[in-house]
Amino acid sequence: MLAMNYRGPYRVRADHKPDPVIEHPGDAIVRVTRACICGSDLHLYHGLVPDTRVGHTFGHEFIGVVEEVGSSVQNLKVGDKVLVPFNIFCGSCTLCQHELYGNCHNTNAQSTAVGAIYGYSHTAGGYDGGQAEYVRVPMADVGPMVIPDDIHDDDAVLLTDALPTGYQAAEMGDIEEGDTVVVFGAGPVGIFAAKSAWLMGAGRVIVVDEVEYRLEFVKRYAQCEVVNFKEVKDMALHIKKMTDWVGADVCIDAVGCEAAGNTMQTITGVYTMMQAGSATVLHWCINSVRKGGNVSIVGVYGPTFNAVPIGNALNKGLTLRMNQASVRRHLPRLIEHIRAGRIDPKQIITHRVPLEEVSDAYHIFSSKLDNCIKTILVPPRANEVRAVKASVQH
Ligand SMILES: [Zn+2]
Ligand SMILES: [Zn+2]
Repeated sequence: MLAMNYRGPYRVRADHKPDPVIEHPGDAIVRVTRACICGSDLHLYHGLVPDTRVGHTFGHEFIGVVEEVGSSVQNLKVGDKVLVPFNIFCGSCTLCQHELYGNCHNTNAQSTAVGAIYGYSHTAGGYDGGQAEYVRVPMADVGPMVIPDDIHDDDAVLLTDALPTGYQAAEMGDIEEGDTVVVFGAGPVGIFAAKSAWLMGAGRVIVVDEVEYRLEFVKRYAQCEVVNFKEVKDMALHIKKMTDWVGADVCIDAVGCEAAGNTMQTITGVYTMMQAGSATVLHWCINSVRKGGNVSIVGVYGPTFNAVPIGNALNKGLTLRMNQASVRRHLPRLIEHIRAGRIDPKQIITHRVPLEEVSDAYHIFSSKLDNCIKTILVPPRANEVRAVKASVQH
């Protein structure tokens, strides 16, 4: 099959590799019809995630058609059109029972720090991802969801990560009626966090980024105020000025480990890797939020350490919440929001690229060229009505 293939930092290409096979009775094989490139794929692409191996296929945001199921799979059948949450989880451990699917005990057993994620290095379990024609889906009875007929495929693929992660970011902010919410990052997750903040009762939403076309988009899409941090000398001071010197009620980090905006953080975190990526946005969140306020973190940081002003957080009495989104938990509510027209996820899609051109697609997204916000990769067999694999089944 054709699949995205990692060759080293800044080098990916479309390559042929063996088709995935059923390895466990609980597996399914899915023929991918759409796969997104995620902002967090760029951390892999830039070589910042430990144990990202040459030959690995990225892609944790994908939908497709079930082509084959293992002998114990009961909830899916060949031909089902499914969206597959980015978390791989067992559904039965203590954490899964608490709907903390991103923290499952069983699917990445060699790590106590990270759950399992499709196509996200061997640190996150080493499972190949969906930027490919086919993908193996473990624990197929609990992860995937059959896509309802009235949900557009472009909306469905955004339900695998970007929308639920943005939504959970707002949820973890514990927003109260009338709160001022500042979202750092105007990528897909930040855009959806801003949109979700209104749904949870925010009275004011401010989005901060440095990429002008993204700020223009989010201003229109989420009807929020925007700040370009390149035009601001002191971020925390600026937010205080905007909020009668009190600070925001809630700050959301939708950026993670590759934040620009502070030279020292960039040198220690990105260039020399003395810490797990630059923590600039964590500083801005902790210092811009009011005393007693909430900081919600969904931007990706690596499992080692970061230089964070924890003393300020302590003395201000902040609540810090963070996690990988628990995608499956949010799906019913988000589908309601989409059906009611309160949120239209597919509007953020700017690029649709054949999988064969995956190398260009990563370059354009990474360099923020061509007003790129969200890219969908379309594998060559995406539109086959009945794939070869299904016809050889008994
Ligand atoms: Zn993602
Ligand atoms: Zn589990």
